[in-house]
Amino acid sequence: MSRLTPKIDFHVHPVIIEEALSGDRRLEETVREVYHIGTAVQPLDALAKMLRVAGIDKAVLLSIDTPRGCLPPNDSLAAIIRENRMFIGFAGINPTKGDESIDELENLISQGFRGVKLYPPLQGFRPGDKRLYGFYERVQQLNVPILFHTGVSWIKNVKLGECHPLEVEKVVTSFPALKVVLAHMGFPWVWEAAMMAVKYENVYLDLSGVFMGTPKEHISYVLTKLLTPGFVSRFLADKILFGSDWPRIEPFKMVEAVKSIPMEKHVFDKIMGLNAVKLLGLGEV
Ligand SMILES: [Zn+2]
Repeated sequence: MSRLTPKIDFHVHPVIIEEALSGDRRLEETVREVYHIGTAVQPLDALAKMLRVAGIDKAVLLSIDTPRGCLPPNDSLAAIIRENRMFIGFAGINPTKGDESIDELENLISQGFRGVKLYPPLQGFRPGDKRLYGFYERVQQLNVPILFHTGVSWIKNVKLGECHPLEVEKVVTSFPALKVVLAHMGFPWVWEAAMMAVKYENVYLDLSGVFMGTPKEHISYVLTKLLTPGFVSRFLADKILFGSDWPRIEPFKMVEAVKSIPMEKHVFDKIMGLNAVKLLGLGEV
């Protein structure tokens, strides 16, 4: 692809994708129970088309190792990323199992996964838990990012206070070379998440999720009312990653929302893809 400015959706949950569910009806029910998603199951190709319509070249597909199993299973996600250059996989791993978690990490990264997704309060740990330091150490050595869920969660039994972005600060200060992405700009703790990204070299933020009104209203509120375009341009241009949170939010609506924000072209290009290219070490997109 020769486009100079690749667009990457950094936050997609392939949980209602036929190929990811492998026709397993029980798995589909589990997905609906855990994530409260009503959308119909659809083929991977439909997602690919939806992304292309939004002008997106690549998407990061996330698995989460929930107490009800990996959603979607890492195996089916591994097959998807092997066969489709459009998709990048982040593995779902529970990091609390010591050496077992580290073995799983190594195995999944060797299968082509480019990062790890963690959802601490759903997975029963706090990010700063010292028992996880061996795991973080290995992720740092492997030089792949961890995407932490931060901010509002609609999942039952997940406490909002445990989703605060500053929960991740201990990890970041103990592993300064570890690349960390704080999901959803930490919303509603946007300033706290923003300051983590400003202060710590390897902390990034993803824009995904809509927590108030339409995508346009939400993105405008976050980038121009809570933060300001000047602050974003000066301090966060290299740190924000575009993301939709599909299937909750349609990618093209998020693209439209970001386009509606007044920002310089080079800032827009970085947020929409160049930052992700750099963070993931992607060559040509
Ligand atoms: Zn998400």
